[in-house]
Amino acid sequence: MSPTLIYIFGGTGDLAHRKLIPALFNLYIDGYLPGPFRIVGIGRTEMAETAYRQEMRKSVKEFSRRPELVAQHWTKFSRTLHFQSHDLNNDKAYKGMASEWKEFQAKHGEEAQVVFYLSVAPQLAPVIARRLHQHKLCADPHRSRMVFEKPFGHDLKSAQELNRLLGRLFREEQIYRIDHFLGKETVQNILALRFANALFEPIWNAHYIDHVQITAAETVSIENRGSYYESSGALRDMVQNHVLQMLCMIAMEAPISFEADEIRNKKLDVLQAIRKMHPEDVHRYTVRGQYAAGWSQGKKVVGYREEKSVDPQSAVETFAAVKFYVDNWRWKGVPFYVRTGKSLPAKETLITVQFKPAPDYAFPEEAAHTWRPNRLVIGIAPKMDIRLRFQAKQPGPHMTLRPVDMVFSYATREQEDCQPEAYETLLQDVIEANPTLFMRADQVEAAWTVIRPIMEVWADKPPVDFPNYAPGTWGPEDAEALIARDGFNWATLPETHPSEAPVKKKKS
Ligand code: NAD
Repeated sequence: MSPTLIYIFGGTGDLAHRKLIPALFNLYIDGYLPGPFRIVGIGRTEMAETAYRQEMRKSVKEFSRRPELVAQHWTKFSRTLHFQSHDLNNDKAYKGMASEWKEFQAKHGEEAQVVFYLSVAPQLAPVIARRLHQHKLCADPHRSRMVFEKPFGHDLKSAQELNRLLGRLFREEQIYRIDHFLGKETVQNILALRFANALFEPIWNAHYIDHVQITAAETVSIENRGSYYESSGALRDMVQNHVLQMLCMIAMEAPISFEADEIRNKKLDVLQAIRKMHPEDVHRYTVRGQYAAGWSQGKKVVGYREEKSVDPQSAVETFAAVKFYVDNWRWKGVPFYVRTGKSLPAKETLITVQFKPAPDYAFPEEAAHTWRPNRLVIGIAPKMDIRLRFQAKQPGPHMTLRPVDMVFSYATREQEDCQPEAYETLLQDVIEANPTLFMRADQVEAAWTVIRPIMEVWADKPPVDFPNYAPGTWGPEDAEALIARDGFNWATLPETHPSEAPVKKKKS
């Protein structure tokens, strides 16, 4: 790998503390960073470099998946870590970067590369992009890259404007739009599960699959991020990006190669095939919610409207459930139910693929009492496992059946700490110039196009029942009705599945 200079714009921010520096530290320990490597955090706060390093050491200790390795590796790692205080609206910052970049190249050779990670508020992105262009810091498309954090745009129009601007200034292959869900091992494993096994692909279609569910649930409330959340909401914050990306992984056709554009083309096909809702569909196929004040997991929860920087009459949703259809041959008539929200009873992201029920004619009636259709449940986070539910005979003299799960768990099969965090995978990909897991301009716009009709109807008709769910519950009752109407129910993960629990020996 080429010598690399990486600038983290927003180097004193929350993301840098919790994710970016811990990820770079872990890449360093595992030997995945190129030999000559220089990280420069840039923030507005005045701070000495030693103080910055100390602060980051604390964060790495707190947030790295391997805090026990800090004592051994920090001193050496920290020599690559620098800090500069700048206002990124001003030219001065970029002049300094241009000369630093020149020096870095002179020292390490012309093949050195530079990465600009924009971990700053989205309003700063156009300013930074113009300045980087003006100072020719991204003039070489093979050796300079920019990483854009979410949100990428606020709606279709703003995403298009930003894409147009970036398209004028840079080449598409230099632009890395992050959706950190795509860096998760379990999300990438969907490709392996689907396309490296002969077992699933023949039945992965409307003939055998009844419906698909995606749940991305959080127990936390908005945690002091009122001003951000007021301009966002569950639909923009989660569905437009993470949830639709997971849906694409489940619904995409088999790629003919693992080339970045091939995978991205296949995912784009899915986004383009998702049925665009008419206003009356929005009423039938979507549910929004907002949490009230109450209690969750033994803790008092402030209602959304009472949170800091939130309008006391706010119509912003903290919960969204949507029923999508993917209008192509493979998925004709198969509903995809998705739901996401804050202040829910469990922190879990999972995908459930439910197969059509098998005909049970041959079995006696009592055998079929506990009959359940086959289900494939993919735990994305924090539980990282795959469960295949099938029917088995209850031990005993009678033919009674019960559903059992066959479980593959990353936690037991691999050493848990061997798994890179999503940001490690993604940062490594940026350094290695591999854009497969990043969003291309057309994907981002297609995703905004999918949710645009929902955003428009919701904006036109403010909710009359907000707040409409208590913290610690699975959102408003209408979300249950959305799926129950079709004869299904939302799947959740068992705390510990019976098959994983220790077997109790019977007393003789
Ligand atoms: P933050 O508010 O904690 O940090 C912002 C950083 O930007 C600070 O370092 C600040 O000094 C710097 N900054 C602001 N204005 C500046 C200026 N004019 N010149 C130089 N530096 C300036 O924000 P954050 O939570 O770290 O989020 C950063 C970005 O990442 C945002 O786009 C956010 O949406 C995205 N993001 C954050 C998270 C998260 O967990 N924090 C998750 C996903 C995406």
